[in-house]
Amino acid sequence: MKLQDLKNTIESLSGVGPAAARQFARLGIFTVADLLQVFPRDYEDRTKKVSLAEFSVYPKVHTICKVTAHEWFGYGRMRNLKIAVTDGTATAWLIAFNRPFLQKSLPEGSIISVTGKFEIKYGQLQSSAFEAEKIADEGELSEYEEAAVPGSKVLSVYPLTEGLSQKNYRKAISQSLRQYAKALENDLPDHTIKERHLLTKSQAIQKIHEPETLQEAMQARQTLIYEELYNFEYKMLLRALRHRGKLPDDTETSYLENNGAAYFSTPDKNSDFEKSLSPLQLELYRRLPFELTADQMKVIQQMNEDIDKSAADRNSLINSPEKITGTPFSMQRLLQGDVGSGKTLTAFFICVRVINYGGQCAFLAPTELLARQHAENAAKLLEPLGIKVAFLTGNLKSKSRQPLLAALKEGTINLIIGTHALFSKGVEYKNLHLAVIDEQHRFGVAQRESIIDRGRISNGTKTHTPDVLMMSATPIPQTLALTVFGDLDISIIKTMPEGRKSVRTYLTVMGHENNVYEEVRKQLRQGHQAYFVYPRISEESGENTSDDKNLKSASEMFSFLNTQVYPEFTCALIHGKIDEDEQKQILDDFKTGKIQVLIATTVVEVGVDVANATCIVIEHADRFGLAELHQLRGRVGRSDLQSYCFLIYGKNISQDGIKRMKVLHETTDGFKIAEEDLKIRGPGEVTGTIQSGYLTLGIADLNRDKEILKIARYDALSNIRAEL
Ligand code: ADP
Ligand code: MG
Repeated sequence: MKLQDLKNTIESLSGVGPAAARQFARLGIFTVADLLQVFPRDYEDRTKKVSLAEFSVYPKVHTICKVTAHEWFGYGRMRNLKIAVTDGTATAWLIAFNRPFLQKSLPEGSIISVTGKFEIKYGQLQSSAFEAEKIADEGELSEYEEAAVPGSKVLSVYPLTEGLSQKNYRKAISQSLRQYAKALENDLPDHTIKERHLLTKSQAIQKIHEPETLQEAMQARQTLIYEELYNFEYKMLLRALRHRGKLPDDTETSYLENNGAAYFSTPDKNSDFEKSLSPLQLELYRRLPFELTADQMKVIQQMNEDIDKSAADRNSLINSPEKITGTPFSMQRLLQGDVGSGKTLTAFFICVRVINYGGQCAFLAPTELLARQHAENAAKLLEPLGIKVAFLTGNLKSKSRQPLLAALKEGTINLIIGTHALFSKGVEYKNLHLAVIDEQHRFGVAQRESIIDRGRISNGTKTHTPDVLMMSATPIPQTLALTVFGDLDISIIKTMPEGRKSVRTYLTVMGHENNVYEEVRKQLRQGHQAYFVYPRISEESGENTSDDKNLKSASEMFSFLNTQVYPEFTCALIHGKIDEDEQKQILDDFKTGKIQVLIATTVVEVGVDVANATCIVIEHADRFGLAELHQLRGRVGRSDLQSYCFLIYGKNISQDGIKRMKVLHETTDGFKIAEEDLKIRGPGEVTGTIQSGYLTLGIADLNRDKEILKIARYDALSNIRAEL
């Protein structure tokens, strides 16, 4: 029998009546399987005696006492019992609110076991949260010290609902364990249990609920955590196999094979790299004014292989379908790399290869600003190679829109770059073969799907999905990469282009802004430029909570900085409500240096690439999220100049706010920042998957159980491979 098949109601357990069943139901527990799968939230170690005198040393006293007196206090319905006890080390009061029956069950003179939290109140040692049980009547035991504390074991502590006590909960657990636990079958493969020195399912379930020692409880937890993560990964991997006809690469966990061997393989020599390029790629490579980083080369090579396989299958599907056995292959890859690590360029290389095969590429960006930036770069780099690049946003007037859409449908456009407009109604492709999705976390699943959909081709029985390259500059922590994105291949660019200096970050509390403004002035005098970022556009914008009223706005600060602080420099204001053409003009002027100080909202978060800007000042920095701050900081440090980031935070900063400031101050490593973000916010928020219920783990915790996750993933992969 498998645990999840224990469908008997808990009422079928002896000792669980309809009333208790109703209380369990409120906890979502209906069957024996439900019951046994709610694991203790804590344990109480009652294997050790803790005397009254030690009440302040341990969280709970656990001792044997003699009852010396009963007293009543309060009147009428407020009348309550107090019980005086001593265990030979001290005397104390048990305050029995609403428990008048204890007068009878804990009579004067009896010997009782007492477990509870004690404190000194009104000059007396007392407890109102205690458990007590009579173990002997007066005279049966001469001295309380002689008795062993009963219940000398580790007790499980469960999440409760009103009316249900730990005692009754434990009784129900105990019953079901006795009836069912022995015969439980394993969910994990037997050989995996053995190789990893895990407990069997039967042992794990018994020991997590009724451990003899804390060590046993922990051992059971490890097994169950592993099992949960293993099952999750196993499902993910099978899904990949079903949808793509292939398992993801195991680059993330393959190091486990020889325990700690090199994590990332080293790239091949340049000549090998050149050999792996298609003609157009080689031309692009030779034209670059700089050398690609080793990681860029490695990632391009990885993806080249995918594109070749995918193009072959796509071609066969149309011309000789009999050649395809199984699901036609396509690339489904997530490219992670910190801001400025050169992902865009890497993606262009891949587009170029697809174009070499005669396919079209769509390059999707979340904002107009970013899309435009990409389109300009693409035009500069790719048009000299004879590639036709187009730019499409929702704002494009219909006069220029119509011919563009026609060209796209005819196939004369090779690469189209834009926003959501790329998959809006009426946009048709001749042969969309690759979708690049930049800042992929900004798009919903449905949006990603609707661009991919435009490139699906089918011969009636088989379908080829276009290649997908998702990119993220907000690095996804490895744990999430292995779970939420577990059915994708993952490539990572870790190294930054040569010569980059890491940005120096300074924290300043509000009230000392002038010091910051002066530091920035020094940079401006050297001919460099600066960004100032604010959480809202103007005094009127935003929700008008009293809290918001105290926030500086970009408009207001533009006037102030322009006239009062930097009259000798040219300042400009930019935000999302400014007309799009005007925004473009402002950015162009900033790029060419006509504007020295740009005062902005978070519109500059992505896509603005001005190497000469060396300062970014973020006021009310504690109002921004960690990922957002990291992105904003990525606006500077884009050349070999030393850059600076000034975070100005409010006096009433929250605890989480302090944590965020600290993280940014301590590191510029986007991967570390993402991990910290995960810790502060929890996994659902980070990926936007919280509502989807995608990642509802029970006992496992992605943050804490990272290492187990990797092992589980690795084992699931190996086992599936062996089964194929
Ligand atoms: P990302 O998209 O990862 O944030 P980009 O592709 O926008 O990064 O690159 C940031 C800047 O670095 C761009 O100006 C780009 O031209 C430049 N760049 C990319 N690769 C290299 C390299 N290998 N060496 C020097 N500069 C590079
Ligand atoms: Mg980018």
